[in-house]
Amino acid sequence: MAKRLANVNTDICVACGVCRLQCPREAISIYKGCYALVNEEICVGCGLCEKACPASAINLKERSI
Ligand code: SF4
Ligand code: SF4
Repeated sequence: MAKRLANVNTDICVACGVCRLQCPREAISIYKGCYALVNEEICVGCGLCEKACPASAINLKERSI
């Protein structure tokens, strides 16, 4: 499993969906139209969503396990 994982700051996310479109693994959904939700089982930590987010609401964090 990848060492890193996309982490969404839901206070900043504006639910635009740009990250969802960028993700090559389709690991992101927009939860109830409110914020981006990352499927931790699928995310490979590539960082494309982090680069694409216009609100800088995503950062990569180290997996704890
Ligand atoms: S691109 Fe950024 S602001 Fe837009 S849905 Fe994704 S995390 Fe939220
Ligand atoms: S880090 Fe890569 S695989 Fe993980 S959610 Fe973002 S774009 Fe998808």
